[in-house]
Amino acid sequence: SALTAVSVQACFDYALRLYQNRLRDVEVERCWEEAVWVYADLVRLEQVLVNLIGNALQAMAETQAPRLVLRVETESGEVRISVADTGPGIPETHLSRIFEPFFTTKSPGSGLGLGLSISARIINDLGGSIEATNLAGAGARFTITLPQEKR
Ligand code: ADP
Ligand code: MG
Repeated sequence: SALTAVSVQACFDYALRLYQNRLRDVEVERCWEEAVWVYADLVRLEQVLVNLIGNALQAMAETQAPRLVLRVETESGEVRISVADTGPGIPETHLSRIFEPFFTTKSPGSGLGLGLSISARIINDLGGSIEATNLAGAGARFTITLPQEKR
């Protein structure tokens, strides 16, 4: 797979376009100040963000005022990309298992349990990491850390 300079925001735009129908009733907050580039495979990074946003939307299916917060920031040579939702969050007992292949809490047909394990694999292959945390109040946040592309 080809590694090139990839715009993180362009990947988010792609994912948001894909889900535009399901996003109609969701407040989307884009938090970034400037274009951020990473050295990555475009299609795979898009796939990761599609996975994370898809999970967030599924998690917020019953949420009253669903809000999706997308953040891109750089700090000391690293890029941090996060997707946060206002769903119920992840039970503490599941936090250590959600990146395992075939771990799912969804009914057959709506989830295979592969999205996060594939996403983690993609990010690890790029020299980065991905982690999940619960937010105070409600919701979950997934944060990807990647080395920043030299400009
Ligand atoms: P799938 O979506 O097919 O279940 P994933 O690997 O994408 O597989 O996710 C694994 C599990 O992690 C989900 O079944 C769910 O229990 C949990 N999960 C993932 N994202 C979220 C989220 N944003 N909020 C709450 N739980 C989540
Ligand atoms: Mg999934």
